[in-house]
Amino acid sequence: MSATEMAKASIAAPTNRQSEDFLTSSVFDELGMQRDPNNLYLQVIDSVLRAAEYLEIPHHLQLILAQPKNEIMVHFPVRMNDGEYRLFKGYRVQHNNILGPYKGGVRFHPDVHLDDVKALSALMTMKCSLVRVPYGGAKGGCKVDPRAIDRDELMRVSRRFIAAISNVIGPDIDIPAPDVGTNAQTMAWFADTYMNISGSVSRQDALRVVTGKPLEMGGSLGREKATGQGVVDVLVELLPDMGIPIEGATVSLLGFGNVGSWMARLIADKGAKVVAVMDHTGAIRNDEGIDVVSLAEHVEETGGVAGFGASHGDTRTGRHTQAGADAVSEEEFYRTPVDVFVPAALEQMIDEEKAGWLECKVVAEAANAPTTPVGERLLQKRGIEVLPAILCNSGGVTVSYLEWVQNKQSVQWDLERVDSTLNKHMVLAARRTQLAQHRFECDMRTAAYIAALEQIAKVYALRGIFP
Ligand code: GLU
Repeated sequence: MSATEMAKASIAAPTNRQSEDFLTSSVFDELGMQRDPNNLYLQVIDSVLRAAEYLEIPHHLQLILAQPKNEIMVHFPVRMNDGEYRLFKGYRVQHNNILGPYKGGVRFHPDVHLDDVKALSALMTMKCSLVRVPYGGAKGGCKVDPRAIDRDELMRVSRRFIAAISNVIGPDIDIPAPDVGTNAQTMAWFADTYMNISGSVSRQDALRVVTGKPLEMGGSLGREKATGQGVVDVLVELLPDMGIPIEGATVSLLGFGNVGSWMARLIADKGAKVVAVMDHTGAIRNDEGIDVVSLAEHVEETGGVAGFGASHGDTRTGRHTQAGADAVSEEEFYRTPVDVFVPAALEQMIDEEKAGWLECKVVAEAANAPTTPVGERLLQKRGIEVLPAILCNSGGVTVSYLEWVQNKQSVQWDLERVDSTLNKHMVLAARRTQLAQHRFECDMRTAAYIAALEQIAKVYALRGIFP
């Protein structure tokens, strides 16, 4: 089986085993939720409820947070280039808005399901609270493979999707952004469509309906690299405390899309060495350190990391230059000894098997929910620290917030201001998490959820429940 096939299989078939102390809250019974340990939504809510118990959060609040406020599902037709019509399915799930307007990306992927979008929306609630940006949590999705259709078709899908949910979003109601399979161009189509159809909102305000826009139409400097930058900011803050100096730290990376490729380049700038990378096309390794700038160019040209070693190595001697790398199997990739392993691809990829293969000291979750609970339990047993996604990858939404603030004031900040404000949010979120870990003597994931929930619980206590 190729690395690609194996990566796909690992998404489709997470380890099917239930752990003893998993999904124990009575809230699941009260809400009639089936205890399926492989369900991503239940996994996320389980983390939330676990943290809620540490904080002794009122039961009614646990019930509220265990279900999204709104789950919107839409179907819309789009004319394809061959003249045929295809029906597409889309979602927008609004988990919670106690802290501010709903906020979260839109994913274009053929495997998008309601429960995944629900899980990702709950993660957004926690993320925004942890980094203290005044937003709630939401997520959107459309069942489409953006790589399998033409640009015009993709534009029509994007426009129809945003039109279909236009009555539930708005610049102060719910603010979409990019996620897997969407980018600044998608946001430009979203914004333009919304500006054309939302009669009640002024044009200038309507621009704020999405973040992650192109620079030329209200986007922020630093937004594209923000998630990768946030991961690096967290690592720079936390690694030295774990006895790992950033300078010379070794890193392996799963996924080389927006988050992975930026993270790689930014951590290399800090003197760390990226020694192994795997994506949907294959896996490569060079213990001397991969030239990640050349790798980013290679991926831009060819669509994946596969072939990087071959194109940069010396084929006559079989030896590779500093810029090159060897093609390795999936298992060799995971078994590469490193200080930090960074999953920056999709959910649930680090199951029990992969957790057993990893030879790292720290897992920094750049992707959303990349580790299964069973995988995480094994990592803990093996003494590997997991820095949770709601901490590591909250840089994206933080700069989204900065973009939205700039749009509100019709100004453009310079990159230094964006980067330093992002850094403050990330460093404080990391410290909040560390503090909760010491206070409650728990793992980092639970600690991050505690630090996030504390804020949400305080606001609920202040506001009370209407009426
Ligand atoms: N999709 C990104 C995330 O999962 C960014 C969300 C946003 O900027 O609103 O955090």
